[in-house]
Amino acid sequence: MSNPSLLILAGDGIGPEVMDEVKRIITWYGDKRDMPFDVSEDLVGGCAYDKHGTPLHDDTMARAQEVDAVLLGAVGGPQYDDLDFSLKPERGLLRLRKEMDLFSNLRPAQCFDALADFSSLKRDIVAGLDIMIVRELTSGVYFGEPRGIHTEGNERVGINTQRYTESEIARVARSAFELARRRGNKVCSMEKANVMESGVLWRQVVTEVHEKEYSDVELSHMYADNGAMQLVRNPKQFDVIVTDNLFGDLLSDAAAMLTGSLGMLPSASLGLPMANGRPKALYEPVHGSAPDIAGQGKANPIACILSFAMALRYSFDAGAEADRLEAAVETVLADGARTADLLGPEGGSPISTTQMGDRILAALDASL
Ligand code: NAD
Repeated sequence: MSNPSLLILAGDGIGPEVMDEVKRIITWYGDKRDMPFDVSEDLVGGCAYDKHGTPLHDDTMARAQEVDAVLLGAVGGPQYDDLDFSLKPERGLLRLRKEMDLFSNLRPAQCFDALADFSSLKRDIVAGLDIMIVRELTSGVYFGEPRGIHTEGNERVGINTQRYTESEIARVARSAFELARRRGNKVCSMEKANVMESGVLWRQVVTEVHEKEYSDVELSHMYADNGAMQLVRNPKQFDVIVTDNLFGDLLSDAAAMLTGSLGMLPSASLGLPMANGRPKALYEPVHGSAPDIAGQGKANPIACILSFAMALRYSFDAGAEADRLEAAVETVLADGARTADLLGPEGGSPISTTQMGDRILAALDASL
């Protein structure tokens, strides 16, 4: 059997810097855990525009469709701000998500004990937090038609349409139930069935999928506004939250702040299974290209490294190895290793991107 394949699209700004640390970790798994990957690299975002005049070349898109998983760094930068909308770096990322049909966006909100004081909430509310928000990513109000701004009578009207089909709801619900089975076995579905018909259908379909296929998983429903409140009141009551594109956008950002720094947040976007049973998959840190610190060795590589841990778990069925990598991150944080973004108001001396990579590799070695 051939090795699993990875396409690395490091992108712009700090993307290549944080991805360099991930590449060392991929090599470590090949050398020390007998898990070799076939790794190829290509361009996305501003660097692809500089070379090809487009933020994602067709050949790169085709390669992304063929590999077992895509690892992405970050895209964007001020030098691309004036480009036409269709050429902006972010369009490369959107094209990948759309053409790979990555409908299920997984955003874990996990609070490492060593960083609990970073949260805007009290330590006892967030310490040990480990929840997963599953956001529908390819439909809903960001895509629904009709949309636009037109004039009615003597004033302008802005229109967007929230539209979900049964099958779109069912597939993201299945994705959430499958995840819950690997975690705490609980799903909370969030919508606004009290005021939106699309929310009524959402609740009906999630309930049907649950009854027919996942009755072993505990399911609850919550209005999304209450969900937002509960997330900051008592986030540990949740295991997996599944919600639509708009509510997921807001709720996952709120949940992210429970955990502190942007440099710590991984994500996965998954689609339907390919012929080999693995889902179409793209893994990326939540943060952007951070032009303010790019090229200075200051970036925190942990979000990108934890995104690779998600790849191990969700694409390569290597949950124990993902646990190992997450535990290595936990160990270095507990030992006090901090990139600049992780220093509290009391300060201290930060380590560089590469030094953080060194520490995590040492912790991986120590785990053997
Ligand atoms: P950003 O996430 O790049 O940075 C926000 C702040 O967080 C900055 O101060 C930055 O220094 C800091 N930061 C982010 N990641 C960090 C890390 N790993 N380690 C340490 N500090 C980190 O968001 P922004 O400044 O709004 O956007 C910058 C560029 O990135 C823009 O061009 C934007 O369009 C793009 N962007 C891309 C993505 C993506 O690729 N998925 C996401 C968001 C923004």
